[in-house]
This record gives sequence, C-alpha cells and structure tokens, in this order.
Amino acid sequence: MAIDGLNFEHDVLLAPYTTYRIGGPADLFLHARNEEELVAGITYAREHNLSWFLLGTGANILIGDGGFRGLVIHNEADGIVFDGARVTAASGVTIAELIHQSATRNLSGFEHFAGIPSSVGGAIWQNLHFLAPDRVNTLFIESIVESARVLLANGEIVDVDRDWFAFGYDDSRLHHEEIVVLDVTFLLTPSTRAAIEAQAEANLAWRAERQPPVEIYPSCGSVFKKIAGIGAGRLVDGAGLKGYRIGGVHVSEKHANFLVNTDGGSARDVTDLVRHIQSTVKAHSGYDLEMEIRCIGEFV
Ligand SMILES: Cc1cc2nc3c(=O)[nH]c(=O)nc-3n(C[C@H](O)[C@H](O)[C@H](O)COP(=O)(O)OP(=O)(O)OC[C@H]3O[C@@H](n4cnc5c(N)ncnc54)[C@H](O)[C@@H]3O)c2cc1C
Repeated sequence: MAIDGLNFEHDVLLAPYTTYRIGGPADLFLHARNEEELVAGITYAREHNLSWFLLGTGANILIGDGGFRGLVIHNEADGIVFDGARVTAASGVTIAELIHQSATRNLSGFEHFAGIPSSVGGAIWQNLHFLAPDRVNTLFIESIVESARVLLANGEIVDVDRDWFAFGYDDSRLHHEEIVVLDVTFLLTPSTRAAIEAQAEANLAWRAERQPPVEIYPSCGSVFKKIAGIGAGRLVDGAGLKGYRIGGVHVSEKHANFLVNTDGGSARDVTDLVRHIQSTVKAHSGYDLEMEIRCIGEFV
C-alpha cells in the first residue's frame, strides 16, 4: 500500500528482523531505505497519531508474541562518507560494515566492537561497549563520536555534539526523549590494517570462547543488567540455572546471562524464564536482577 510515496506493508512478522528470532506481526511495516524515507515514515506516524517503533538490527529488544499495533520502521538508511580520519555514517549502517570500511583505510576505532550486532542508531541508543584490549577497562562508542544529526520530537533536524547525548552505561538521551539519530560523525585514529584486523580477530576469539554464537543460538546478548563487581551471569550460574529451559528458550551453558532460542521459542518463554531466574537468584543470593533489553509490543 503506497501512501505519501511510502510503501507500507501489512501484518509483517517481526521475528526475522530480530536476533532472538522472536516477535509477532506489525500492523504496518516500512523498509526505510534512506534518510528521506525514515523521516517521512516517522512524520506520517506522528501526523496520524500512530504508535511507531524504529528497528535497527533488532539485537537489543524482545518483541511480544502479539506483535506491534502501529508502524514498525526498519532502518535501512545507508551511506558512509570518509573525510580524512572522520567518517559520517547513516544511522542504518551496521557496525560490522564500518569495521570493514575503516580497516581498509587504516583507521582504528570500530574494531573494538567486532562481533556485536548493531546499527549506528542502536549503538548510540545503547552507548555500545565492550572490553578494552587490556580486558580490564571498558570502551564505549561515545569515545569515537564527534557529532550527529538528529530528528527531534517536534520534527526539527539539528546538529548536535557528543555531550548532547549525555551518554552513560547502557544509556543515552535517546532512552528518555523521542529522538531519532539520522547520521553520526566519528573521529577515528590512524593505524594499520593489520593491527586493526588483529584486534577485531582477538575480540571475535574472546567472544567465541565465552559466548554462544548468535547465528546458531539466537539471543539478544546479555539479558540482565550488570551488577558491579559480581556479574549477573555469575549469579545465574551460581543459582544452578545453566541449561534451565522453558519451552524453546534456555539459559546458555556457555554464558548464563544469555537466554538462547534454539527451538522456536516465544516471547512468553523468554519472559517466563526471566521471572523464574529472577526469583531463583533472589532466593539463592538475595540479588535483584533487572532486565537490560527493551520489551516492545504486545505480550500475550
Ligand atoms: C550476541 C549479542 C552480543 C551482544 N554483545 C553486546 C556487547 O558486547 N556490548 C553491547 O553494548 N551490546 C551488546 N549486544 C546488544 C546489542 O548488540 C546492542 O545493544 C546494539 O547496539 C543494538 O543495536 P540495534 O541496531 O540492534 O538496535 P535495536 O535492537 O534494533 O534497537 C534498540 C533500541 O535502539 C533504538 N534505535 C535504533 N536505531 C535508532 C536511531 N536511529 N535513533 C534512535 N533510536 C534508535 C530502537 O528504537 C530501540 O529502542 C549484544 C547483542 C547480541 C545479540
């Protein structure tokens, strides 16, 4: 159905657009192939008082089995422009693509996030992070952000700098206001392709040893928020829950903060398993585990 030049689709199953492979249908769905379509889709939803949700690579969300009543916009806006050590990327570009493109230009920065499924927009929303090469400190995407263009709730498009985002741990201004990132300019550091690729390989190897590969074990990464100095995964493991299963979803044997959907599980399986883990860990160690992923749509 084309409206205002936008090709809306009806009743589109959302599961294939998430790394969990879970989620019911969206009433309306739009592939936003560029910034114009992204802005037009959001403007359409706002003008028609439609609920809407912007989906990146779907790696940090759990979509309910009942799906989404309203418009889901899949961000496919691409475009990467290099200017010396700076790179400006549209918000639908993946971090994997940026690692590849910047490595070929001997520019370092993105390789620290190798193996993490993310769009640029999702990375800013979350303040994407991973262990630094020393495996002690944490590196955040904010460290390479220089500026961005964003669409505000009032429809204005403005240029902003890094501080504007008020980045925190798993947090940015995007969690608290209806803001859409359109593109981001990153400032990278000159290096060599060999060093960049070696760091990316080291990170992938670190992950392969400790985390279930998402291609075989669909997941959303860590489900519970970090508990400083203890580790949510360790609490789940300590409560004897590795391998514990509800329906098609179970606690990964490799990393107890990953709930993996290996057998056609549902959002209900995930939320039931989350509740079981929370009460078992509370009884076992006294800690309250909080979910860090975002739940979207109707949970039945
Ligand atoms: C196997 C696995 C490992 C992971 N490991 C890590 C890790 O090491 N570190 C880490 O930080 N995360 C990790 N994650 C979580 C996930 O990869 C990140 O949170 C990622 O940044 C999510 O990006 P996305 O594009 O998938 O966002 P989505 O899940 O699609 O969306 C997440 C939120 O961002 C919002 N959003 C998306 N685009 C925009 C935009 N343009 N403007 C405004 N808001 C937007 C969405 O509306 C939504 O609210 C992991 C996930 C998996 C599956």
